[in-house]
Amino acid sequence: MSYVDEVIEKVVAKNPGEPEFHQAVKEVLESLRVVVEANEEKFRKDALLERITEPERQFMFRVPWVDDKGQVQVNRGYRVQFNSAIGPYKGGIRLHPSVNLSIIKFLGFEQVFKNSLTGLPIGGGKGGSDFDPKGKSDREIMAFCQSFMTELCKHIGADTDVPAGDIGTGAREIGYMFGQYKRIRNVYEGVLTGKGLSYGGSLARTEATGYGLLYFTDELLRLNGIELAGKTVAISGSGNVAIYAAEKATQLGAKVVTVSDSTGWVYDPDGIDIAALKEIKEVQRARLTEYKKYRPNSEYHEGRGVWTVKVDIALPCATQNELHLEDAKALVANGVIAVAEGANMPTTLEATHYLQENGVIFAPGKAANAGGVATSALEMSQNSERLSWTFEEVDAKLKNIMVNICHNADAAAKKYGFAGNYVVGANIAGFEKVVDAMTAQGIV
Ligand code: NDP
Repeated sequence: MSYVDEVIEKVVAKNPGEPEFHQAVKEVLESLRVVVEANEEKFRKDALLERITEPERQFMFRVPWVDDKGQVQVNRGYRVQFNSAIGPYKGGIRLHPSVNLSIIKFLGFEQVFKNSLTGLPIGGGKGGSDFDPKGKSDREIMAFCQSFMTELCKHIGADTDVPAGDIGTGAREIGYMFGQYKRIRNVYEGVLTGKGLSYGGSLARTEATGYGLLYFTDELLRLNGIELAGKTVAISGSGNVAIYAAEKATQLGAKVVTVSDSTGWVYDPDGIDIAALKEIKEVQRARLTEYKKYRPNSEYHEGRGVWTVKVDIALPCATQNELHLEDAKALVANGVIAVAEGANMPTTLEATHYLQENGVIFAPGKAANAGGVATSALEMSQNSERLSWTFEEVDAKLKNIMVNICHNADAAAKKYGFAGNYVVGANIAGFEKVVDAMTAQGIV
């Protein structure tokens, strides 16, 4: 049996009941087969793949807090410190009822390669809780965040592990967590990113993942001789990534016709009104049913359906496994040119293969959505030098990073005979640097 298959089997056996983690490991290791096979003997002797698929450290903890009725609630907190070969662990905190160890490990594993791809000195980690911020009062959110950080603060630090936002963790939650960290540890340091501008946050961090996705997509299309301007775009989600992806796509001359949330989706043939979307989601924190009040020409549909619309480009920006095989078939039947992942692993493996086999340009999240973590790393740099850069400076650096990631993934794919396969290219480009660093640092 090949070394790759052997390790996939071991990972599945050693981590029962973790389907998302298995899926991520399979996806990454399958695409690294060509590199691993070229170095099989050495990698096997060094147990490189066993080490890279085993988190350096992971912990789960009780998060008790009191709700507004005086009732004690108990959630479970997670932090997986996956790999620190190239820098301090870095990765977001997800607050969503679906969170479990499998999801946090899949995200942490993917983060290792994504962070490496940015070219910046950051290792990979991820954390979160099954806490659901929806419908909670500000006081309840604060009570949860403080309790969560009371335990987490023992394990993180500006040079150790620097968490950030993710689904359910925005500026408000980061603020409460930062306050509690400072209070307990008595240090003012850049221990979290995604902070408010008044206390060490970076300009352009809010926009970074969505903007970065479009800088990447624009460059990728250009490499393939296609222009983004004038194209029609379907976006799923209406959170941080989706909103700023829609904004930048519109600025670059494309027309975004859909957005969605967990209950339904909007089709606006005239192009999504970004100001209305921001008002509904960022200010009112309301459902997309409100959108029709701003744009009477638009349609609201319950349930799923974004991928049934005829578009040139699809940008899944909601959550994992939201673009299934039947969605891929519908997109291909409608002549889609490119799919670029704004969310983490939104496309199932079957859907990814179908898109690639049918000539669709496919950009994996770990390359296409790396703008968020890249800008978090820029926030860390600003915190270390105790300076703040302008929006334009950060945005220019972000664009440069995304263009470089695109070229590096393209070059790595070509080097190993997989021209045009950006999944393989991104995984190889990210993997090579981590393996280099791990090898140099000995058996740790
Ligand atoms: P948000 O919480 O801001 O938005 C998430 C969006 O997806 C919301 O519209 C939400 O709808 C929808 N959604 C969430 N879960 C589901 C579900 N199970 N089914 C259908 N819709 C769902 O998160 P972000 O925009 O920050 O993150 C989106 C994705 O991008 C995630 O995969 C995240 O890991 C990834 N990502 C985010 C980065 C960032 O900087 N923010 C960086 C890199 C990746 P509703 O409001 O109804 O819940």
